[in-house]
Amino acid sequence: MWAPWRLEYIENADNHTDTCIFCEKPNQKKDKENLIVHRDKHCFIILNKYPYNNGHLMVVPYEHKSDILDLSDTVLLNIQNIIQKAIKALRSTMDPHGFNIGVNMGRPAGAGIEDHIHYHIVPRWNGDTNYMPVLTNTKVVSEALDQTWEKLNKEFK
Ligand SMILES: [Zn+2]
Repeated sequence: MWAPWRLEYIENADNHTDTCIFCEKPNQKKDKENLIVHRDKHCFIILNKYPYNNGHLMVVPYEHKSDILDLSDTVLLNIQNIIQKAIKALRSTMDPHGFNIGVNMGRPAGAGIEDHIHYHIVPRWNGDTNYMPVLTNTKVVSEALDQTWEKLNKEFK
């Protein structure tokens, strides 16, 4: 996917410290500020701060693992169940026409945070990849992140 609006994120990616945001954020007690929409037993759901599309979520295990082979069956099953719940929540709040669901494992594969595995769920609508990002470096994300958080958090409750 071509996403020039993510440049801010890419430019800041080299300024990383030793702390891992996917370990740090669930330990803080400010889920709304951190865009965590749901906590489950072995994983949580967080909104992507630099989304490819409205409602771009990430399902993240609490365990700090960089390789999918290091996740136990229990954690993998929980992740898959939560992906199903996320799809249900996105369908009932945003009515997307399709989804991209996947993992970028390792930096060459496009992982922004390569040390802590995370599953992307990107809702798609017919015609959502249009000329705007390509020609003008402008992405039309029609809904603010906090509104998306409110809707999805309510849905999960
Ligand atoms: Zn981590």
